[in-house]
This record gives sequence, C-alpha cells and structure tokens, in this order.
Amino acid sequence: MPELPEVETIVRDVAPRLVGRRIRAVRLAKSDVLRRVSRRRLVATLTGNIVVHAHRRAKHAVFLLKSGHRLIVQPRMTGSLIVYDRPLTADETRYAVLTCTLVGRRLFVYRDVRRLGTILLLDDRGWASYTARIGPEPLEPDFSAARFAAALRGTRTAVKKAIMDQRRLAGVGNIYANEALFDARIDPSRPANRLTTAELGDLHAAILDVLRRALAASGTTVRDYRTGTGEPGSFQLELKAYDRGGQPCVRCGHRLVTTHAIDGRQTTLCAFCQR
Ligand SMILES: [Zn+2]
Repeated sequence: MPELPEVETIVRDVAPRLVGRRIRAVRLAKSDVLRRVSRRRLVATLTGNIVVHAHRRAKHAVFLLKSGHRLIVQPRMTGSLIVYDRPLTADETRYAVLTCTLVGRRLFVYRDVRRLGTILLLDDRGWASYTARIGPEPLEPDFSAARFAAALRGTRTAVKKAIMDQRRLAGVGNIYANEALFDARIDPSRPANRLTTAELGDLHAAILDVLRRALAASGTTVRDYRTGTGEPGSFQLELKAYDRGGQPCVRCGHRLVTTHAIDGRQTTLCAFCQR
C-alpha cells in the first residue's frame, strides 16, 4: 500500500500540474470508493472548482479546493493519481474511477484497478476532526525522539504494530515498519513499552532515515504503486527486510524469516541481529 514516501511522491508530482487549474468536467465511473459523500455532491462540488493547494497527510493525498472543501484520496493497495496531457487509452479509461478534465484538456485521474482506495470530501470542520485523529508527521522538523517516545508510551502492543498505528504515528505502513526495525536491530514483536530510551532513539532515527531514502527513490513499487507521472518507484531495489523472507541478512548472512504473528501482517526479520 502506498505509505508516506509514495503518497508524498504522488502529491509532489501532480501538484504543479494541477494547482490553479479549474475543473471543467468530472466523470465518476464507480461510486463504491466514496466515503462520507454522495456521487451527486462530489460531482457538483468538483465541477467548476479549482485546486488551490495539494499536500500529504499520513497516507492521504489532500487537495484543498477554492470552495474550502478538501478532496482526500487514500490510494491503498491498487490506486494511483496521475495527471495526463493526452487522452486516456482504452485500458486507462477502464480503470479510471474519477476523471477530472481541467481547463486546457489536461486530465487528473484517480485510477484504481480493484477499487480498494477511498475518496472523501470534507469541509473545514470535517477535516479538522479527521486530521486530529491522526498522529504526528515523522518528517516534520518538530518530530523529535522525545515526541516519538511519547507517541509509543504506555502501550504493550508489539512495537511494529504500534508504529503502524496511524493514531500514534502518521504514514508508516508495513514496508517501512519492517525496514526501520531491521535498521534499528529491534525485534518487531517486542512490547513497545519495553524499549529503552536508546532503542527508541535508534528506531526514531531509523524511521526518519528510511522514509527520507524511500522518498528520494520515489517510493517502493512491489505491485501497483506508480508515481504521479505513472512511473514505478525504485526503493524496492534497496529493501533489506520487507519481501526478503528466506534470503540472507545483509548484515550477518543468516536467513531472514517471515511470520504473520503480528496483527496478521507479513513481518520479515533477522532473528540473529534484531533483538
Ligand atoms: Zn542479521
């Protein structure tokens, strides 16, 4: 699923080609991706509106409209947001869930093969309560090791599950949780409240480092993720833990093991150097 680096990449790619352009026409092919908004209200609000700002919050792409509404897209497993300067091919049209035709014939498309992603439309109040339920952004300058430790304080849940909990920390999912715990040499199943201050400092540094490196590589493409220009990311070439079960640890050479013991999600670790 697109996590922080992937959604950030998408937003950075589409924003300069989208912001300031009026939406002339809207086509919504399927409404099952909509949350808290009807087809009629979404189409009526978007038509004639202008995207005045785009940013990322956690794993969501957030488009502020001139009307004050926010269009919020969470691509999840199979979704992508792409701006095209040409008509769509038949295949592209088939999976285009939301197509906004901008002035100048440019197209802003939400594509989702299996429609696992979601689209919300929120007003100011709705957005304020929505964003208030999400934890701090790890790449913000004020996200210190002390703030990270405070976010994990008092929970006995496995540290991997705790750092993927969007109410505690924004934007980290399964890929970067696996990578950061590997880099910090911490066993993902350890109760979060049993980590020492030094370990929390190491994990904080590892999370920031892996997110920044993944962002520099335009994210990780293991299946459907594409950047805002339709290209794959390249961080899959740098993964050390995620999706590497059975392969040798890059640090010690022991075989990495994959379990589903933590929250049913795929966890890959080196049992020798992650303690
Ligand atoms: Zn190892």
